[in-house]
Amino acid sequence: MSLKKIGIALAALLAIFILYTIGFTERGINPITPTSKAPDIDYSALSEEAAKDLQAYIRIATVRNREREGALFLKSILDKRGIPSKLFEYPGKPDRVSILAEMKGKDPSKEGLILTNHIDVVEADAKEWEQPPFAGIRKGDRIYGRGAVDVKGLGIMELYAFLLVHEKKIPLERNLMFLAVADEESRSIHGTRFLLEKHREIFNGYEYVLNEGGTGSRDIAIQGSKVFNIQHAEKGAVWLDIKAKANSGHGSTPPVSYAAKSMVDFLQDVQSLGNKTMIKDETAAFFYALGGISPFPNSFVLKRSRNPLLFLILKGVINSNRHLRAMTRNTVSITGVDSHPVGINVITSETSASLDIRILPGQDEKKILEEVKAIGAKHGVEVSARHLESGTISPMDGLLFRVLAGVATAVEPGSIAAPFLSPGTTDSSYMRQIGLKCYGLIPALLSSEEIDGIHGKNESMTVGQLKTGIEIIFKSVIEYNHQIQK
Ligand SMILES: [Zn+2]
Repeated sequence: MSLKKIGIALAALLAIFILYTIGFTERGINPITPTSKAPDIDYSALSEEAAKDLQAYIRIATVRNREREGALFLKSILDKRGIPSKLFEYPGKPDRVSILAEMKGKDPSKEGLILTNHIDVVEADAKEWEQPPFAGIRKGDRIYGRGAVDVKGLGIMELYAFLLVHEKKIPLERNLMFLAVADEESRSIHGTRFLLEKHREIFNGYEYVLNEGGTGSRDIAIQGSKVFNIQHAEKGAVWLDIKAKANSGHGSTPPVSYAAKSMVDFLQDVQSLGNKTMIKDETAAFFYALGGISPFPNSFVLKRSRNPLLFLILKGVINSNRHLRAMTRNTVSITGVDSHPVGINVITSETSASLDIRILPGQDEKKILEEVKAIGAKHGVEVSARHLESGTISPMDGLLFRVLAGVATAVEPGSIAAPFLSPGTTDSSYMRQIGLKCYGLIPALLSSEEIDGIHGKNESMTVGQLKTGIEIIFKSVIEYNHQIQK
C-alpha cells in the first residue's frame, strides 16, 4: 500500500471515530412522567403536624436499642386513625421491636409496595452538637436531632404518605405496607433479617420497596444542581483477617523476610485489586444524568463515559473523588495492622491485619477471596474470611424506580433523577436476596452539610424538606397504583 493510501485509510478511521464519538451517547434512565391526578392536599399544614411527630420521635433515643418505644409511638399515630398494626418482637429481646401496617389492594397476590424505614439510630456526641441530639428541638424551620434524616425523617414521610392514602380512601390496586424495623444500624439481626427468616410470609405478594440508601442533593459537585439520587444497587463486602508468622529476632540483624515485612509487602501488593475502573450500564446512566446538568464540555464527556478516548479524561475526574472511585471499582481498605511490638530493637514473630474490601455488584466474592489468598501465598501470609457478602442490584427499569424518578422531578422543578450505586449497605441488601426490587431515596434536597449530619453532628431536617418528602412519596404511591391499573 502506498503512503498516500495509508494516509487516506487513517483519515477515514479517524472520521469514523469522530462521528461515533459525536453520535453515540450512553443511555439515560427512563422516568415515567406522572399522569395520575392526586387529590389536593395542604402539604404545608400537614408538614407542620408531621414536624411535631418527628420532634417527638427523635426524643425517644433509640440508639441501637429501645425500638419498642419507637414502635409504640408509631402505633399510637396509626391507632388514632383506626389503622391496625402488628408488632414483631425479637425472641428474648423485648426492646427490639418492628412494626407493620398494611392496606389491602384489589389483587393482594402480586406487585405490592412496601414503604420501609428503621427505628434505631446511631450514637451522638452531644459535645459536638449545637443542639442536644435527643431533644427534638426546632429552630425556625429546622428540626435537630439524631435520626432527623437517618432515618426517622424518612419514617415520618412514609408514615404520613401512608396515612394520606388511608384518609383520602385511595382505592388500591395492590397491597401497600408501612414497615418500620429495628436494628438496621447494627446489621439487622433483630430487625429485617429476623423478619425475612422467621416471618417470610409477610412479604408474600410484594414486589417493590422504598427504603433509605439514596437522597436528594442540592448544589453538590455542580452549583445550582438538584439531583434525586435513587439507590438501586449496593456493593458487597469481603472482610478478611490476615496473619504473618515467622521467627522473632534482633532488630540489628534482620533476616531477608520476617513477619512485619511480609505483611507490609502483602498489603502493598493486595491494593492492586482496587486498580481497575469499571463502568457498567447503571454507572454510565449515572454519568449521563450528570451530563444533563453540566456545562459543555463536561456534558459531552459525561454522556459518553465509555468512549475509549473520553474515558481517559473522565478517569482523571473519577480518580480525584473518593465517592466516584467507590462507585466504579472494588476498593481495598486496610483497617488494622498490628505487629504486636515489644521493643524498638525486637523483630516480633507475628503481625496481623484486617482488610475491608468492597466489591461491585456482579463481582464474585469467593473469587476475590481466592485472589487475595493467592497474593497471600506469594508473601507467606495467611488469609481467612470473616465475612463475605455479594453486592445486590435492582433494575433501573423497575416500575417503582421509574415512578420515583418521574414524580420527584415533577414535584421539584429543575431537578433530575440519577441511578445511584451506594458503597455501603442498607436493609435493601437483605430484601433484594428474596427477590424484592428495592430503591433507596430520602426524597428531599439536602445540602452537603445536611448529608454530613448523617451519623455526624447537627443532623437536621427542615419542615420544607419534610413537606417535599411527604408529597413525593404520596404522589409516587398514587402514580404507581395508576400505572398498575393501566
Ligand atoms: Zn439509616
